[in-house]
Amino acid sequence: MTQTPHAESSSLERTVARSQEINAELDKNPSDYRVLTGDRPTGHLHIGHYFGSLTNRVRLQNMGVDTIVLIADYQVITDREGVGPIKERVYSLVADYLAAGIDPDKSMIFLHSAVPALNQLMLPFLSLVTEAELKRNPTVKAELADSQMPMSGLMLTYPVHQAADILFCKANLVPVGKDQIPHIEMCRVIARRFDERYGRAHGDQPVFPQADALLTSGTLILGTDGTKMSKSKGNVIELRMTADETAKALKKAVTDSDRTITYDPVNRVEVSNLLDIAGLCLDRDPQSIAEEIGDGGAGQLKALVTEALNEQLREHRDRRETVMKDQGYLESIIRAGNTRANDIAEQTLTEVRTAMQMSY
Ligand code: ATP
Ligand code: MG
Repeated sequence: MTQTPHAESSSLERTVARSQEINAELDKNPSDYRVLTGDRPTGHLHIGHYFGSLTNRVRLQNMGVDTIVLIADYQVITDREGVGPIKERVYSLVADYLAAGIDPDKSMIFLHSAVPALNQLMLPFLSLVTEAELKRNPTVKAELADSQMPMSGLMLTYPVHQAADILFCKANLVPVGKDQIPHIEMCRVIARRFDERYGRAHGDQPVFPQADALLTSGTLILGTDGTKMSKSKGNVIELRMTADETAKALKKAVTDSDRTITYDPVNRVEVSNLLDIAGLCLDRDPQSIAEEIGDGGAGQLKALVTEALNEQLREHRDRRETVMKDQGYLESIIRAGNTRANDIAEQTLTEVRTAMQMSY
């Protein structure tokens, strides 16, 4: 069962090709797809999420794809002690979803911890994977290295939990970065082995579908320290920040000592990242922005990015502020999503019990 480097690269190629195929087909038959996406409430969403995932979710939703948004609260405790100010973060996430254009009438928003039947899928699913398979997952290894904690049972098995997230609602498409491909592979293995070992509930359809990765092609946004912008790292420009806070954060952003602004993503990572952000906001080629600034230096670049970003986020921030004031509304969205998620999960668990001859 050991994967050779060759097998890994051909699996990557297959995943990339399949993802491109689906992307090209999506708008023809959007109702063939159910997408599962989500975030861990480990902090507040930042501009990396805005450009990297939120706009894509809204695009899928508005295309007519059935979109489900999971706030993965149980996955907060995979790599840290305690849950932090989780409730505040959950409301903040929902406010950003709504402000970005996620429509709760079209996209279900729910929380892990509110759906027991989803979590119960962990039991049969854990029987379908080996310790060796869990231990060699490269993404888990990388996240463990980042976390400064010993490997917990939950950390080791979180890809299985993620399979439960995807399969409880029979999602067949998961927008992810390349680093998440091993998890989608594991999800496919679990669905297939469930069918082989435990059989079907009725008819000739397996209980669980084979989910595909929809690879995100967007630019990776770097934080003010020049490493990947990440909500647990303190290098972020959060969507909830004011225009002034955004200006202050950008003023502190690391650049380099070369006064002439050029777009060179390999050798001038930080400057190019700022140009990328401006390009995304202004819908312009970052190269041409660089040429326009020329000898104006980092100060002028930062001023331009600040203005472009604040303009891009102005309406989002207005909407966000309005919904944040109405906690009752945010609560009602979460409750409605949780209720629907429970219905779906119960239905799936009934099929699982039938397939496993455990319905009494
Ligand atoms: P955490 O610190 O909890 O790991 P994070 O900020 O690193 O949070 P993730 O949960 O790792 O965020 O990311 C969720 C998704 O958001 C990613 O798969 C990606 O699509 C998008 N995303 C996150 N950070 C960035 C970024 N810096 N640039 C572009 N996209 C991003
Ligand atoms: Mg992360």
